[in-house]
Amino acid sequence: MEGMLKENSLKGKNIIVTGGGTGLGKSMGKYFLELGANLIITSRKLEVLEKSADELEKETGGKVLPVACDIRKYDEILNVIEQSESKFGQIHGVLNNAAGNFISPTERLSHRAFDIVVDIVLRGTYNFTLATGKNWIEKKQPGTFLNIVTTYAWTGSGYVVPSACAKAGVLSLIRSLAAEWAKYKIRSNAIAPGPFPTEGAWERLFPADVAEKIDPLKRIPLKRFGDHQELANLAAYLMSDYSAYVNGEVVTIDGGEWINGAGEFNGLEAVPQEMWDKLEKMRSRKK
Ligand code: NAP
Repeated sequence: MEGMLKENSLKGKNIIVTGGGTGLGKSMGKYFLELGANLIITSRKLEVLEKSADELEKETGGKVLPVACDIRKYDEILNVIEQSESKFGQIHGVLNNAAGNFISPTERLSHRAFDIVVDIVLRGTYNFTLATGKNWIEKKQPGTFLNIVTTYAWTGSGYVVPSACAKAGVLSLIRSLAAEWAKYKIRSNAIAPGPFPTEGAWERLFPADVAEKIDPLKRIPLKRFGDHQELANLAAYLMSDYSAYVNGEVVTIDGGEWINGAGEFNGLEAVPQEMWDKLEKMRSRKK
């Protein structure tokens, strides 16, 4: 899979990626660098960030600033913004990608476990969005928010209920701000990825014993997982000026997974050809 955008499509842009030291955040950040952006990656673990920053700089020749930050803490976010501006100048985009999640029957969760997920995903995202948005508005600078949600932000999903509640909030946040902050030249969009293999997601959401019982590939009409570059292509487009008129949108990239789960008769995929032949004969006899 190749990069889709023209060379230098993000040239001169300074972009913050939360959770940018691992998984999808790192892959999207890498492509932003390849397209000429400067990158600020942030998460709680500085060692992970520094190692990734090093790797990304070597691989792309771009510039990466790692800054530790727990997005639940507003002061730490202000520090990321300050450090980003002093290293690179004006910030042009924020990719709200950091999250926490795990599978569990809801009745087994303590209210504290519920809090942890909602705090990272929803509070963390509105904290980052509010701090950067205020900064842009005060300085009369345009900006772009891109938030990573999931398709169960609108369908809901059992066994990941705190995450579903929080992602629904994140989606509502970007849709609301798309209307309210467009007057400040601030765009807000989201991407809802289906399954894209990452260490983090696979460890927490598809542990081996569970994956044996529910093969996640069976749910996807295209019968494959996503390729990180496919997601990076979409993210780079939504971060770039090519999408200047896209605002308040959520783009799904899931191989048809959620729509497959939603269609009442899609389960008929399991009906073999011989059974269809039999049904057809029965119908023609009735005519
Ligand atoms: P991941 O590698 O585990 O990424 C999560 C990142 O969030 C980590 O870098 C983590 O770093 C950071 N993080 C967690 N809590 C934080 C906090 N309090 N403050 C700052 N950073 C924090 O998993 P991923 O699969 O790449 O997921 C990335 C995004 O894609 C998430 O929003 C996820 O919901 C979404 N998504 C993924 C899939 C998939 O199939 N992979 C599907 C749908 C949606 P630290 O631990 O160092 O803080």
